[in-house]
Amino acid sequence: MATPSTRDKSDILYTDALTHIVGGVNSPSRSFKAVGGGAPVYMERGDGAYFYDVDGNRYIDYLAAYGPIITGHAHPHIHKALIEASSKGLLYGTPHALEVEFAKKLKAAIPSMDKVRFTNSGTEAVMTTVRVARAYTGRELVVKFSGCYHGHSDLMLIAAGSGPATLGSPDSAGVTRATAKEVITVPFNDVEAFRDMMREWGSQIACVLVEPIVGNFGIVEPKPGFLQAVNDITHEHGALVIYDEVITAFRFTYGSAQQVYGIEPDMTALGKIIGGGLPIGAYGGKAEIMETVAPLGPAYQAGTMAGNPASMATGLACLEVLEQPGVYEKLDALGAQLEAGIREAADTHGVTITLNRLKGALTVYFTDEIVTDYEGAEKSDGEVFGRFFKLMLENGVNLAPSKYEAWFLTTEHTEQDIEETIAAVNRAFAQL
Ligand code: PMP
Repeated sequence: MATPSTRDKSDILYTDALTHIVGGVNSPSRSFKAVGGGAPVYMERGDGAYFYDVDGNRYIDYLAAYGPIITGHAHPHIHKALIEASSKGLLYGTPHALEVEFAKKLKAAIPSMDKVRFTNSGTEAVMTTVRVARAYTGRELVVKFSGCYHGHSDLMLIAAGSGPATLGSPDSAGVTRATAKEVITVPFNDVEAFRDMMREWGSQIACVLVEPIVGNFGIVEPKPGFLQAVNDITHEHGALVIYDEVITAFRFTYGSAQQVYGIEPDMTALGKIIGGGLPIGAYGGKAEIMETVAPLGPAYQAGTMAGNPASMATGLACLEVLEQPGVYEKLDALGAQLEAGIREAADTHGVTITLNRLKGALTVYFTDEIVTDYEGAEKSDGEVFGRFFKLMLENGVNLAPSKYEAWFLTTEHTEQDIEETIAAVNRAFAQL
């Protein structure tokens, strides 16, 4: 494997970027602030499981653009769909056939959605589900689970409380205290805390937002019975359950996490993978609830770019790749190979880790405690992760620059790539 030696051009680009782009990056998670600072790597080209940076270094990529690139970079089928769509014009501002075809395909894959609406990002999709839930129930309070990220709309930027059920405080300057008072945060995987909170606030709750499998403080599965209890208790109090499947849909199976656990939410928010790499979001749910949305109902939501032909075409093409037989079995097998190799490397080098994996997604926490909630994930040693992250880069493996993110496998990774990655992990662990 080529071992990156110099990143001079990345350094120069970053210095320039700092002058012109706030913080040098267009999304804070791309900065290396959480891993000890320094210039991020400027990628020039992606090809399958690989990235090539502006200095000519090659990396095996597990970032997958924070999830969407499940079929690898520049997948030929998706590329072809984009070329074809763009040759007919990029944006119409009118209805067109592809959006109908794509809506049907999504509904067939996620049957709890009677009706869908496309947006441009996961943030917009989640933000709108909350508006619709409020419109439908006539209530105002919103519940979310600590540490779960649901995009950057004001309401969703409310911090985790430290108590079992706390009224939130703003997690970002510019979000008002009044907004924070509309959000209640409870720990993930804690049915009792959830039940107690609902006893107190239930009659005022419009909706409960759930990442059915957490992807935002690493990969954390729901404990047996947790999702069912959340669904039942929420409904007992007349509130709606919204699944944020922006990460989970089409990540673990062809369809969504709700099907994995056999639970139907009232509404679902989607994004990432369903765009095949282009900007997208979507939300959907029961017809009666969705009919609250304009032009049928009083809840307004719109978008100049929503349902644009290019995103519809790449999204459809991506799902066509994912529905082929064997895709998720392959992702699972590669994930198992990677997990076994990382565990063995940790044993060999005496590095303490906790590894959470579900099929083709995993997180390595630098802690000896099991991680089932945000509090547990926080215990992962960020300083050790920062050094590990940089050693992996030097050894030709690109991870997300945060101890809270997942490693994502793609359909284009090979067993050989996993072997190379495990060798890199061994070299990195040896130097920790
Ligand atoms: N929900 C979840 C679960 C997410 O992980 C993200 C993005 N990481 C979002 C919503 C927001 O999506 P976007 O970045 O497309 O706005």
